[in-house]
Amino acid sequence: MAVLLGCIADDFTGGTDLAGMLVKAGMRTVQLIGVPDGPVPEDVDAVVIALKSRTNPAEEAVAESLAALRWLQQAGCRQFYFKYCSTFDSTPRGNIGPVAQALMAALDTSFTIACPAFPANGRTIYKGNLFVGDTLLSESGMRNHPLTPMTDSNLVRVLQQQTTQQVGLVDYAHVGQGATAIAARFAVLREQGCGMAIVDALTNADLEAIGEACAGMPLVTGGSGIALGLPQNFRRQGLLAGGAAASALPATGGLRAVISGSCSVATQKQVAWMRKSHPSFHIDPLRLARGEDVVPAVLDWAGSHLHKHPVLVYATAAPETVRQVQAELGVEQAGSMVEEALASIARGLVELGVGQMIVAGGETSGAVVKALGVQGLRIGPEIDPGVPWTATLSDAGTAPLALALKSGNFGTEDFFTKAWSALP
Ligand code: ADP
Repeated sequence: MAVLLGCIADDFTGGTDLAGMLVKAGMRTVQLIGVPDGPVPEDVDAVVIALKSRTNPAEEAVAESLAALRWLQQAGCRQFYFKYCSTFDSTPRGNIGPVAQALMAALDTSFTIACPAFPANGRTIYKGNLFVGDTLLSESGMRNHPLTPMTDSNLVRVLQQQTTQQVGLVDYAHVGQGATAIAARFAVLREQGCGMAIVDALTNADLEAIGEACAGMPLVTGGSGIALGLPQNFRRQGLLAGGAAASALPATGGLRAVISGSCSVATQKQVAWMRKSHPSFHIDPLRLARGEDVVPAVLDWAGSHLHKHPVLVYATAAPETVRQVQAELGVEQAGSMVEEALASIARGLVELGVGQMIVAGGETSGAVVKALGVQGLRIGPEIDPGVPWTATLSDAGTAPLALALKSGNFGTEDFFTKAWSALP
């Protein structure tokens, strides 16, 4: 069967978040990194193409998103989804409005919704205003974001600045009454000339009702929350089989390693936990800066331990140590030097026979995935909220690699040691 739902995510971890949500709702899902040039993967109900289009110039974001859309159309998708951040990260110039508008034009559709709500993470929308926990978006930490400061919590106003489409609101008076009332409100707004509508949502039940009201809508835009309600539409139409678990992964094997470039609080605890019982190697950025041959030394060391235990290679350090390193090397220079070293180590470890790997850190994961030449990931069972096991899409004849990509603050303290038991 062809792919049902085609998604375009404006960043990598946002893509993974959405993909995990779809798997939990029963769709077999693959995440592809960048606009693919390969064939459509088999046995897949949903494809998420992860772009890096949140903060680049709007024209570039539009061009990349349209290229992704064309590929998804060729894959036979019946509905399309544009995923952005649940805090609506954008500037008055875009990119949410321009990309949504361009996708609408390409799909020849005159109406879509915009709903970034994600109640489980405290993102709710009421009367068009986005709340982060108990505070308005404009009073939350997001007002100081270095790239996309959000100083207005009224999403109707924010989106209206980014598009020539008229933006309306489906307010809670309608959302609270369920799918039929929501769909009726869509019709009224369309008649009034609206091309896009912000939709209020306070609970997961609201998201499910909104999802139901979006059955047959060619394009849906939002955070990952709306994904809760869409699979059920396909199921109702008999297009989505129940059967085998959507999170089934192909078998993987080989040796095990953890690579950590995250200095977040949760990761620090996870590193300390694993160090107590496993061989570990600390990467000192100052040694890298001095040009010492750290990568071969790590691989030599790993070669002698890997066959007995999973190993841990980490640059993770306490905030004061990181600050000292950054003061000496510069923030970006330190970050990219560590990322490059960890990415080379990941490649070396795979050559040594590692087939199951955990990577901690969003940027670090991006660097590792790139170094390994990974083009796509099949999303598997969840280890902890927001972190699934995945298997790389591999050419026929080559074994897939199991990867768990953990962003900074996710996972319990024993994540690095317990994750292995969640592998099939
Ligand atoms: P997180 O998901 O926790 O934010 P990231 O991998 O996205 O983790 O970001 C962590 C950044 O810190 C990376 O650029 C990484 O290379 C850098 N880094 C890791 N360890 C150190 C260190 N000891 N000193 C300075 N920078 C470091």
